[in-house]
Formats: sequence, structure tokens, C-alpha cells
Amino acid sequence: MHKKYPLYKQATQQWQKAADFFELDRDVRTILSEPKNEISINFPVRMDNHELRLFRGHRIQHNNILGPFKGGIRFHPQVDHDEVKALAVWMTFKCALVGLPFGGAKGGVTVDPRELSSGELMRLTRRFTHALGNNIGPEYDIPAPDAGTNAKTMAIIMDTFMNAQNTTNRNAQRHVVTGKTLTVGGSLGREKATGQGLVYVLSSWAKENNFDLSKCTFSVQGYGNVGYHAANILEKMGASMIAVQDHTGSIFNPDGISTEDLKNFNLSGNPIVEFENCEVIEDHEFLGLPVDVLIPAALEGQIHEENAGKIQAKVVAEGANGPTTIEGENILKDKGITILPDLLANSGGVTVSYFEWTQNKTSSQWPLEEVDRKLKIIMDQAYAQTSQICKEMKTDFRTASYIVALRRISYAYQERGIFP
Ligand code: GLU
Repeated sequence: MHKKYPLYKQATQQWQKAADFFELDRDVRTILSEPKNEISINFPVRMDNHELRLFRGHRIQHNNILGPFKGGIRFHPQVDHDEVKALAVWMTFKCALVGLPFGGAKGGVTVDPRELSSGELMRLTRRFTHALGNNIGPEYDIPAPDAGTNAKTMAIIMDTFMNAQNTTNRNAQRHVVTGKTLTVGGSLGREKATGQGLVYVLSSWAKENNFDLSKCTFSVQGYGNVGYHAANILEKMGASMIAVQDHTGSIFNPDGISTEDLKNFNLSGNPIVEFENCEVIEDHEFLGLPVDVLIPAALEGQIHEENAGKIQAKVVAEGANGPTTIEGENILKDKGITILPDLLANSGGVTVSYFEWTQNKTSSQWPLEEVDRKLKIIMDQAYAQTSQICKEMKTDFRTASYIVALRRISYAYQERGIFP
């Protein structure tokens, strides 16, 4: 793992490259160069052994010119201020790219949720939400799941936030978070949304490049919500998953690994390295396997200058945020490998978050078919706009996706003007 890579620098370099291309207005560039608000909180949690432990969390709100701040909350031991700041920047551009009425933010707590009991996690989530107070809100800043959090975490955040409001006003606050469980107001299709969106983007790319997804092989790094759903949908289209890596190790089977069986095995508490009929390989061998499609769906900084040279895939579809460092990306480019960047490839999650927010505001629930259909329209459009810019400006998908996003943001500043 490339732990110490400065992520905020990476995010800044990425969007500033696009800003240069597009000759972005100097004032807008200045505004975007730092987040609007950076909230860091130390908060105490009573552990099961009665000791009080202090945790550190952040909520960083980068920009809200296009709408309320939006972005996930991560529980992970690697969370720090720099990481959350970069992730907040990426949310601004991701929401702008797909045309959502949202800005960008991100939150995180430095904790390994696997080491906490369910009671401890509940108390941590409630205390962090309470500490955030009115820095989040259904029309102001709307969190969602990210690494280490899930629909249940969101239900707890919602409940804590609602309980701090006036009794008569509580039910109007349901959309303070998205990615909730269905029972408390979540949307059908939200759980698979990031994986589904990734496959829509990959399908558009495949169509444009005469690449047969139904016959391809792929590998997945990170077998959580994003990795599993992307793999499962691709498998249903006929593709074959031949390798998987997660924090416990790496497995390989050239004849294909059942996405569903592996998920069930893993959910029952078994490490993927014990899954039947698979060869356990060294972690450093994983990226070099002969696959057509590589899906990094774990953490940032996984593809870097020391390992990018080994990659044999034709296309890398970034399910994770920031999985490829600047140096790693340059190596992939020299090798002619296409990167479908995070902003585009993983924006299905926040898009269905927007659908959930809309459903909550109108107290309705859309059928799954409607969610998928609307998601496909948005993903297809974002792909088409990005691909068009790639051709027009002779640039890569990442830079093109930032250009599409920056155009929307800078038009909004032009039209609204800069206060006062
Ligand atoms: N955490 C997800 C992301 O990075 C989803 C954010 C959201 O739904 O607000 O895109």
C-alpha cells in the first residue's frame, strides 16, 4: 500500500491540469483551491470495557455552488485530514460531472470498525453525528456510506440527527443522509448503484471500442459493496472474474470465480483466501495477472510507480476514489491502457443517492426498474460528454471528466457572480 502519498496534492494536480486546458477563470480557480469548511472533531466514546476512548473525525466541505454539500463518511484506520480533504474535492467534481444539484464534501473517523463491537460502533456513530450537529442537514450537507460504513450506519446517523430536532419537524429530516436501509427511507438500487454505474460506463466504452464485455476476463481489488456488485453484474453479462484481492490476500482461478458464492463465503466470516478451487497468490502478483479489465475498488494509491508497469489489462475502471497515483497513471498511459476515472466510473453511487434524496423529499418510492433506467440515462450522458471532450481536446478521460465538471461549476459562478 502506498500509504503516505499526499492525496490532496494528487486531487489538486488532477483538476488543475484540466483547469489549464480549459483556461479556467482565475477567481474560480482561487475559490476551488481550498475547501470552504474544514471541521475536525475529537470526541469521546465509552467502550465495552467502560474505558473512555477519544476518536478523531472530520467533515470537510469543499464547495456548494451547485447545491448542498454531498459525500460519504468513511470509518477506516487510515483516515486523516489530508485524505478526507482530497475525497471532498473529488465529490465536488463528481457531482458536477454527472450534473447533480450537489456540491462536494467528505467525512471520516480514524477507526478500524472491525475491531469494535456493534454497541461501540453505534455509540461512536451517534456521538460523531451529534458532534457534527448542524454542520450537516438535509438541505445543507448530506452524508452517505463510504469505506467502513453501510446502510445501517446511515440509519443511525439519521436517527441521531432526527432526535436532536423539534418533535414536529423530525420526519422532514429523513433526507439528511442517503444510502440508508430500505425500511428507514433508502432507495431501491442504492446498494448496487456504484457497481451498476461502473458497468454502464464500461459498457459505453466497450461499445465505442468494439470490445466484447461478454467474453472478457476481469480482476477486482476490494470485494466490498462496489467490487462485488460490479463483478456480479459483469458476470451476469458473461464476463469471467478470474482474480480477487482484499485486505486478507489475493486469489486466482483462470476458469472463473463465482461472484455470488465468494460473497456468501466472505459474508459468513471466511477470508477470501480460503475460497475453494482458487490458487492463493502473492499480493504483488495480483496486478500483473493477464486480464482484460482491472477494477480497483478498494482504497486510494493502489496503482503507483512501482507496480503500474506490471498491469496487462486493456482498461482500468476505477471503482475506488483515487486508486491511481499521478506517476502510476503516466505509466499506464505510456502502455496504452485506458483509465475510466473515478469521477465517472464510480459516480453511480452518488447519483442514486440523489434519487433517494428526491424520493424522501416527495415521500415516494421508485421501482428498481425506474432507478436503473434513470441511472443509465445519467451515466450514458456523462460518458458521452466525457468521451466527446477526449476527442475534441485530444486528452485522456480523467482530464476530460474534470473539464466537463469545471465547465458546469464555472458557468454557475459566472451566472451567480461572486458575493458580495
Ligand atoms: N461515498 C460514495 C462516493 O464516494 C457515495 C457518496 C454519496 O452517495 O453521497 O461517491
